Amino acid sequence: MHDEALLRKILIANHQKITKARLTVFNLLRSKEPQAIASIIAGCKGEVDRVSVYRVLDLYEKLGIVKRVNIGWKYKIELSDAFLDHHHHASCLGCGKVMSVMENGELEALIEKLSAKSGLTMTSHVLELYGYCYACDTNTKNRT
Ligand SMILES: [Zn+2]
Ligand SMILES: [Zn+2]
Repeated sequence: MHDEALLRKILIANHQKITKARLTVFNLLRSKEPQAIASIIAGCKGEVDRVSVYRVLDLYEKLGIVKRVNIGWKYKIELSDAFLDHHHHASCLGCGKVMSVMENGELEALIEKLSAKSGLTMTSHVLELYGYCYACDTNTKNRT
């Protein structure tokens, strides 16, 4: 299904209106890497105010349209698996860069096996990699 058509369907199913603010925030998140709230607010500048951005994101999180990608004690926002192909992230704790790690059949099969072994009918899973990107790693080494 087309992304925006799916968004409309989810909103209508939850008795929510399709507003300009909701569409603007959604379009900013589309086909992009996970984004910090500050950059979403910056992207909406002149169209959607800060408070409305927070409200839209709050609603989207409740409805499963977006999810948080945690990086240390901070987080970024991205569209959920309903809109993006299932993937994992590799995040840099130094600069906060988030790289998408695409689907690996072997890994997914192993996770399925693990959940079955635990007697769990799995509906979703999260697997994130944390560390330092090449640039941050080199900077740290040069300092010491
Ligand atoms: Zn980095
Ligand atoms: Zn996975």
